[in-house]
Amino acid sequence: MTDTWVVHRGGCHCGQVRFEVDAPARIEALDCNCSICRMSGFLHLIVATSRFRLFAGEASLREYRFNTGAARHLFCARCGIKSFYVPRSNPDGIDVNVRCLDPATIVQVTTTPFDDTRRAESEAAIAELSKDARD
Ligand SMILES: [Zn+2]
Repeated sequence: MTDTWVVHRGGCHCGQVRFEVDAPARIEALDCNCSICRMSGFLHLIVATSRFRLFAGEASLREYRFNTGAARHLFCARCGIKSFYVPRSNPDGIDVNVRCLDPATIVQVTTTPFDDTRRAESEAAIAELSKDARD
């Protein structure tokens, strides 16, 4: 299926953190059941760093790391929302929370479950989904 790429805009709840990301208008998102995503309801859109531009709020970002410390969980110091972060599965990429995108440019969101208890198979699925997003 040929898909139209658009520039999505998004950010945190209070609006201090704002970014734009190049991605298809029809978004394929991953819904992960790991300890932190389950609590925060994070819906994953993983893109190459070159397709992501943070244009406001860098100074408002705080970082949380746990377990291996590989993932850099970034949240707004004012409103607490994690609108994007640097994922362990793809440290050269950016993982955007689809729930934090402005709806205007989104045609459709399809979610695929990511089972963290079967990480190896799930990461193969991520690699498949994000291969189009790499440069
Ligand atoms: Zn905020």
